[in-house]
Amino acid sequence: MKKTMVIDLDRCIGCYSCEIACKMENNVDLGVYFNKVLTIGPVGTYPDIEMYFLPTLCQSCVEAPCIDVCPTGSSFTNKEGVVLVDSDSCIGCYACIPVCPYNARSFNQQTRLAQKCTLCSHLTEKDKQPACVKACCAKARFVGDIDDQNSIVCKKLKEAGEENIYTMPDTGNHPTVSYILHKKTARWQERSNWEFFPKYE
Ligand code: SF4
Ligand code: SF4
Repeated sequence: MKKTMVIDLDRCIGCYSCEIACKMENNVDLGVYFNKVLTIGPVGTYPDIEMYFLPTLCQSCVEAPCIDVCPTGSSFTNKEGVVLVDSDSCIGCYACIPVCPYNARSFNQQTRLAQKCTLCSHLTEKDKQPACVKACCAKARFVGDIDDQNSIVCKKLKEAGEENIYTMPDTGNHPTVSYILHKKTARWQERSNWEFFPKYE
């Protein structure tokens, strides 16, 4: 089982509800994000201008480098395939933070421990939706098991068609979060380096 997220960029209106709901649910500090909505573009020349919104989060890697480098085994994948940090055994050594290709981990200045998006596993284990999914007024976010062909995420990807599905660059980490973007909305802007969040030293 690999629980992950599909985000339909054709539907996202950049309202930031998901970003705020995530911060409230997970008590995320000012200036820190587990989920951040980026604005991509505008690109092109008037009147052919394109832009879209890109909600970002941990990409739920299959071969997660943040797990590989953790000296205590505190970064792990739970039975649903969600990459988590065990705050009881994390020693705040910082090893996992710079190895994430997307800068999706941060250091909690209060607890002195590593932190990241948990896909709201404290809610999903009670059969509730992650806060960002629940708050999305555009119904652009879906969470489910990418290994189950009947899951909502697989159904959404099937409906969208392969040519309209994008993932972040894969450096061997195999990101599983997928983005749906039809060319009638905008063209996906490729970047070799996607760093979603501000860096903290
Ligand atoms: Fe780890 Fe970063 Fe991959 Fe998330 S996106 S599993 S934090 S390497
Ligand atoms: Fe986009 Fe939904 Fe997030 Fe609003 S709540 S920014 S529509 S993904």
